[in-house]
Amino acid sequence: MIVLGVESSCDETGLALYDTQRGLLSHALYSQVAMHEEYGGVVPELASRDHIRRAIPLLEQALQGAAITPQQIDAIAYTQGPGLAGALLVGSSVACSLGLALDKPVLGIHHLEGHLLSPLLASEPPEFPFVALLVSGGHTQLMRVDGVGQYELLGETLDDAAGEAFDKSAKLLGLGYPGGPAISRLAEFGDPEAYKLPRPMLHSKDLMFSFSGLKTAVLTVAKNQGLANICEQDKANIARGFVDAIVDVLTAKCVAALKQTGLKRLVIAGGVGANKQLRASLDAAAAKKRFKVYYPELEFCTDNGAMIAFAGAMRLQINPLAAQRDYSFNVRPRWPLDELKVV
Ligand code: ATP
Ligand code: MG
Ligand code: FE
Repeated sequence: MIVLGVESSCDETGLALYDTQRGLLSHALYSQVAMHEEYGGVVPELASRDHIRRAIPLLEQALQGAAITPQQIDAIAYTQGPGLAGALLVGSSVACSLGLALDKPVLGIHHLEGHLLSPLLASEPPEFPFVALLVSGGHTQLMRVDGVGQYELLGETLDDAAGEAFDKSAKLLGLGYPGGPAISRLAEFGDPEAYKLPRPMLHSKDLMFSFSGLKTAVLTVAKNQGLANICEQDKANIARGFVDAIVDVLTAKCVAALKQTGLKRLVIAGGVGANKQLRASLDAAAAKKRFKVYYPELEFCTDNGAMIAFAGAMRLQINPLAAQRDYSFNVRPRWPLDELKVV
């Protein structure tokens, strides 16, 4: 069975083809970050318009890459939510129009389920059950995953998401948007002893997070140094202080979640999962505490169509009726993962 995946929840347009027998056949992706950069964040209206421009050329690219015809597609999976309403509408309407034109069934996918299952696309995928840390631009959640559609929320952030904390702190340091990768690179040159920033909720004895205070701590330190004429080394030192703090908290909570559930497998998903320092810290904890940690391929950490095609294929394998010839799509910009139907 070949599933076409369509992702357009935010500022990446992704189309991909996944074959349940042969694996991922192709994936085509266009990131709008350069367009949004000058505004310092995603402009929803511009995002929607650009998804319209990119969708069909990316579909053609994905079909060519997979060397298949549109008729060989068996089902179409699209991101139904959560995300920007206008952006979601583009992907949904593309998916449903294609379904109607080709007479293929369609199914809406929860974007976070896509992220959650993305590590299973790797060459050595984890087995269920596992603990998942979802660290993206909009979410920071720890979950127990027993199978496709079987997710139990163990803890989440009370305010900013980890990716948001990276982006906002990077912005304070004048590093552009999205700032996660930039602040991470800069941190490599920073002195770990220069600034000890707070580790919010490290000792809260639960699996909740809070990152808005960390951003404020970055602002305070940067202001004390004189925001406008802060030198490069000092910027790197602050970046290092920030990254060390956030990585410490994320690592400690992962270890606590494994202890609480008694599980030995940890899966990382979402854009912040690409972070080098986080990976190094989790790898060290895994060696010490004897658990195994799994990451998505770097290109599948941030938004992409492959994870949506894959999540669709997994759902369809369990329940072939999950996809329907019902093209009256409705998007769900807000959609808590615990409202997701079991397959
Ligand atoms: P959501 O999936 O919650 O709706 P999103 O799709 O915007 O949010 P992702 O695409 O998964 O989020 O991830 C984007 C986030 O990941 C951004 O905040 C970005 O700064 C962060 N990020 C990407 N690479 C890195 C990195 N190397 N280090 C730290 N953060 C990173
Ligand atoms: Mg993005
Ligand atoms: Fe995402």
